[in-house]
Formats: sequence, C-alpha cells, structure tokens
Amino acid sequence: MKVHEAILRRTNLQAYTWVMLPVVAIGGWFYTPLGFLLFGCMIGAVGVSFFRGRNWCDWMCPRGAFLDLFLRPISRKITIPAFFRHEAVRSFMLLLIFIVIGVQFYLAWGDLQAMGLALVRVLTITTVVGILLGWGIHPRTWCHICPMGTVAHWIARRQKPLQTGSSCVSCGICTKVCPMQLAPNEFSDHNLEYSDCLRCSSCVYSCPKMALSFENNVNRTESYQKAS
Ligand code: SF4
Ligand code: SF4
Repeated sequence: MKVHEAILRRTNLQAYTWVMLPVVAIGGWFYTPLGFLLFGCMIGAVGVSFFRGRNWCDWMCPRGAFLDLFLRPISRKITIPAFFRHEAVRSFMLLLIFIVIGVQFYLAWGDLQAMGLALVRVLTITTVVGILLGWGIHPRTWCHICPMGTVAHWIARRQKPLQTGSSCVSCGICTKVCPMQLAPNEFSDHNLEYSDCLRCSSCVYSCPKMALSFENNVNRTESYQKAS
C-alpha cells in the first residue's frame, strides 16, 4: 500500500463514522435518549484498546474522525503543548467528566430523557472544546485529554510499541505525518508515548527508509514490501 492509498483508506473510513457526531451532539437536543449512544463509544474505545491500543480513536471514534476531516484544513497545526500530555491533566479530565456525568445521573435517576440530556450536554460541550483546540493548536489536541482516550492509553501500555529498524536516519518525517505528533522512531519500553499511537500506519507508509513496523522481530523492508 502506498502513502496516499493508506491516507485515502483512512479518510474513507472516517467519512462514515464522523456522521454519528452531529447525530448525537445536535440530534440529541431534540431526542435526548440519543445521548446513551455515548456509552457505545466509551465501551468501543476501551474494548478495542485491549487488542489494538488506541486504534478506535483513529477512525472508529466519530469525534476523532470529525477532527481529522474538518479541522485539519483550518487548524493552525502548531506543536501541542506538553501540558496536554501530562498525566495529572489527563487524570483530572477523566475525573471531572465522570463526576459531571455521575452528579447529573444521580439528580435525574430514573428519568431517561434527563439522563440522556446529561450525556448530550457533555458531548456538546467537549466537542466545542475539541473544535476550539483543534482550530487553535492541532486537530487532535483534544484526543490527548479525552477521558476515554486516556483510559485506552493506559491499557495500551501493556502492548508492544511500533518497532523501529536500524535503517532509521532520524529524518523526522514520521513525526510530521503523525496525527498525534508522536515520534514513533523513539518509542521504547521507557518512552511510553507509544500508548497514544492510533495505529493509523501513516508513519509506516511515509518512512523513506521503511524502518517502521507493527510486527516484532521482522526485517522491516520485507514487511513493507509484503504490504505494498
Ligand atoms: S521517517 Fe523513518 S527514517 Fe525518518 S525518523 Fe521516522 S523512522 Fe526514522
Ligand atoms: S505513531 Fe505512526 S501509527 Fe501511531 S499515530 Fe503516529 S503516525 Fe499513526
């Protein structure tokens, strides 16, 4: 698979999933039980993370797909501040969202309309924040503090990182194409940034030295040629 084919495939998949965002974030204000679909996204993100890290966030998450498709053309695309990667900030966001949902559920318990509205409200507010961050900084800034993304990234630490072969010349192209602004050629058991990898493969297909692979203990060039 060539670089543009890999990007096109990803964009095509995202073109289906982003639709669910306005369905719930806008439609939910008119039919509040739609808010319960949020639980599907939460379960999906966590469930997939046990097998494929944050791959849900790549194209299966409607908000992630929306941010990639619609914010990329207008985003300032500057470096995401380290603040957004800090564990304390991410943990705070996770706690905050669960407290907000928990309190609203407690007050509305038994009233499905009100409970659904609580979820729609949270989705709408976080989406507005995600859009502002996506425009002002980088499309995927929100994904660093997304509560379910944080849980998925903790679980993903149990998995092997993307591997870098000895042919890497540290040119930095992989970081330039990475939607999460990661440096995959620096992933290691000590550099846990790999747990935020979306497994989009953009870096794998962009590397001029064919140095990156999700397979372990393989000749990267052979692996690349097999995929072509
Ligand atoms: S694009 Fe390839 S060669 Fe360049 S830094 Fe990344 S892994 Fe190394
Ligand atoms: S490190 Fe590579 S596979 Fe992971 S998110 Fe970045 S570009 Fe995609």
